[in-house]
Amino acid sequence: MSHMKVCVRFRPLSSRERRDYGDSVCVQCVDSETFNLKDEKDEIFTFSFDKVFYENSEQASVFEFLALPIVRDAVNGINGTIITYGQTGAGKTYSMEGPGILECDELKKGLLPRVVDGIFECIKSSEEATKYSVKLSMVEIYMERVRDLFDLTKDNIQIKENKAHGIILHGVTDISIADPAEALRSLASGIANRVVGETRMVLSSSCCVKLLDRFYWATETLDRAKTGKLLLVDLAGSEKAEKTGAEGSVLEQAKTINKSLSALGNVINALTCGSLGKSKHIPYRDSKVTRILQDALGGKSQIALLCCCSSSPSNASETLSTLRASHVKV
Ligand code: ADP
Ligand code: MG
Repeated sequence: MSHMKVCVRFRPLSSRERRDYGDSVCVQCVDSETFNLKDEKDEIFTFSFDKVFYENSEQASVFEFLALPIVRDAVNGINGTIITYGQTGAGKTYSMEGPGILECDELKKGLLPRVVDGIFECIKSSEEATKYSVKLSMVEIYMERVRDLFDLTKDNIQIKENKAHGIILHGVTDISIADPAEALRSLASGIANRVVGETRMVLSSSCCVKLLDRFYWATETLDRAKTGKLLLVDLAGSEKAEKTGAEGSVLEQAKTINKSLSALGNVINALTCGSLGKSKHIPYRDSKVTRILQDALGGKSQIALLCCCSSSPSNASETLSTLRASHVKV
């Protein structure tokens, strides 16, 4: 059974929210694990998570609590997954990438560049440094199609399962990475290839980055070879399709995204809701995202879910549904 950490992060109010609604927020801190949320009808809901990062939280603290233990484990051959979830504009990409993947301000760097640094540091301090090979692949899941962000001609990657490696993306470009700077350059080129621009409110996609691969070069020790797979997933916006005001094909896209996210919710619930009989069906096949995450969710692995929320009273109802969807107790 995998180990799951569920955290919440509230982003600071935007200047527009301040202008329109003043400084009021819908969140009241109780402590570092518990907070109260006030909805539009002034009803108060109390939530507890493994950790709450409030508006002034630092990128480094999110990394240290959520990602660093997973990075260390991945270098030791235990698969790990870090997922950001929440409505569009709630801070998923900011948490994952920072203001930009090539951001130089140490304070603002997001999870991805910190994870990259963390991997290389862990490897350097390992006695078996020469036996690691770090590989990087990056796909976008858009309208239930998996696109290779390092090779746009591969726009319908198939997800397969094999005994040796578990879930694999068949034919995906796997770049060998020698150092953190090279990883960041590749990530930047992949991000530039995403079909979804940040300014569109409705069109949204999930982005999945796989890092790390470890093996022993010597064939005689091949039976001791281990692979650590580290997945970072920036999920599509979780807002309800109907609420986005979209019509026609754009509405269809939003519905597809919702379906795939609710498939993920169903899988997480099936895995975490107590009495799991052996025969219980876990609905991995319901969406591409859950299929890609199948190893990560089901096996012996570490998962961290960061639920990104707005603290603006104008977003209280979306924030409430984000929190309810992710409020899984394990
Ligand atoms: P999402 O990916 O969930 O749609 P973004 O990460 O793009 O949302 O965030 C929306 C806006 O809010 C961006 O302009 C981003 O820079 C800003 N933002 C989000 N989280 C933070 C934060 N913790 N601190 C400062 N600005 C943030
Ligand atoms: Mg985003």
